[in-house]
Amino acid sequence: EARRRPDRTLRVKMVLLGSSGVGKSSLALRFSKDRFQNPSPTVGCAYLTRVMHLGGATLRLEIWDTAGQEKYHSVTPLYYRGAHAALVVYDICKKETFVRAQLWIRELQRQYVPGSTVLFLVGNKGDLDQDRQVSAQEGQNLAEDKGVSFTETSALSGHQVNELLGAVGRSETNKQT
Ligand code: GDP
Ligand code: MG
Repeated sequence: EARRRPDRTLRVKMVLLGSSGVGKSSLALRFSKDRFQNPSPTVGCAYLTRVMHLGGATLRLEIWDTAGQEKYHSVTPLYYRGAHAALVVYDICKKETFVRAQLWIRELQRQYVPGSTVLFLVGNKGDLDQDRQVSAQEGQNLAEDKGVSFTETSALSGHQVNELLGAVGRSETNKQT
């Protein structure tokens, strides 16, 4: 198994997609280092990592962030090719980022054999409930319609972040068995 290193660690490539400003870089930092920083750093071509232990398996998550190319709608397919998991992120306070998330899901589902990349729809900035423009039900409905998983997170508070990582990890360990 090519993805298993000699120490039996399973390598998982996870990419973050979505409009500029939704919190992708902030989530990447939260996933990797469990902290929040404003202004958030953009990782660039490299990736952050996080080691996870899940039911006897060790996973090394590679967390890929765009280098801001999404501002110009120029995220190259090379970026998400070969990803095991793709997180399509929107900002619950910005309707247009939710509309854009639908387009991302459509594009990913057109490009990939179903099942090769597991998709997660992520409504971020859950701490800003008072400014919400997209209900959790709308997010859930879109996810069900597209057959993807759904969660609302907050990179700021860390809410649901470990749960989401656990779901990504389980989707991978399930593929292996
Ligand atoms: P990106 O362009 O998708 O990488 O978004 P960033 O991570 O750069 O975040 C854009 C802005 O939203 C920054 O000012 C962040 O501090 C802020 N932000 C990111 N995540 C959250 C969150 O969960 N809650 C709140 N309140 N602000 C957030
Ligand atoms: Mg960014």
